Amino acid sequence: MLEYDVIVIGAGPGGMTASLYAARANLKVAMIDRGVYGGQMNNTDDIENYPGFPTIKGPDLGEKMYQNTVNAGVEFIFGDVQEVTVDDNQYKHVKTDSEDLVSKVVIIATGSNNRKLGIPGEKEFSGKGVSYCAVCDGAFFKNENVTVVGGGDSAISEGTYLANITDHVGIVHHRDKLRAQKVLQDRAFSNNKIDFTWNSNVVEIVGDDNRVTGIKMVDNQSGKLTTVDTTGVFIYIGNIPNTQMFSNLNITDESGWIITNSEMETNIPGIFAIGDVRLKKLRQITTAVGDGGIAGQNSFEYIEQFNEK
Ligand code: NAP
Repeated sequence: MLEYDVIVIGAGPGGMTASLYAARANLKVAMIDRGVYGGQMNNTDDIENYPGFPTIKGPDLGEKMYQNTVNAGVEFIFGDVQEVTVDDNQYKHVKTDSEDLVSKVVIIATGSNNRKLGIPGEKEFSGKGVSYCAVCDGAFFKNENVTVVGGGDSAISEGTYLANITDHVGIVHHRDKLRAQKVLQDRAFSNNKIDFTWNSNVVEIVGDDNRVTGIKMVDNQSGKLTTVDTTGVFIYIGNIPNTQMFSNLNITDESGWIITNSEMETNIPGIFAIGDVRLKKLRQITTAVGDGGIAGQNSFEYIEQFNEK
């Protein structure tokens, strides 16, 4: 059984920062991810609010962070974590789909997944016009007319990204106000390739055998149903936390977000949670990085006490 001081679950910006801090404190650190390192940064085109880089591509920032952790001695393990348990001696047992690992500290940095609309056509046309990632799929829609659903930072920034590639972007939002940061709103409002449909819910995605051809939406004030021709539907309606595999630990609220204090401690000693998976207000790369630094440093302090026992 492989033994570590710290196991970090998730290799997004929070997980990579926690790993870096723990490794620089001379701890033996493994960072596990079921996908490519970088997390949601891989789905982001330009990042303009990470200090030190006036603008940087999401995957490039992920690559730089990863090199930083590897240079500090962090071991990257590819695996899908199934369960974490704690034994009587406070060792943490991390079971992946292929191995069992043991550590003194676990830092959970598993982030969140795209929320789905749950409407007819969404699943059927996924990968055939329905997408949750403009950076990954936008290029397939060159000179076409696409729809973005949502009103948060992701919908508005990725809608603006899509306007650079496509002919036209229609943003459909279920309210009459956006949640997105003002700077992103202003940019979208002044882009003549973007228009907004307010107070409307997309109720069905329609298509032929192979591809999306349109959406049906309802004006939630008048009840009027309209069909709009579109070949791409990009859905950005928020996220749900990736915490199903930790349900035995009882560390989440009723919606699945992990509850921590300002030291990133959960209610289980030696288990920390950081980044988007945590119950908090501002989910950003900068805040994930801040959480990661705190948890990495606190791991060191926890392990000093652990070793004295
Ligand atoms: P979000 O902030 O949760 O926004 C989700 C949007 O979808 C909201 O406008 C919400 O409407 C709408 N929505 C939710 N459920 C819906 C449904 N069933 N049907 C239709 N619309 C629905 O999610 P996000 O935009 O993906 O952002 C996630 C986090 O990442 C946020 O903390 C955000 O600040 C951060 N982020 C930051 C940046 C950046 O700084 N550049 C970029 C991307 C993401 P309501 O407004 O009515 O709730």
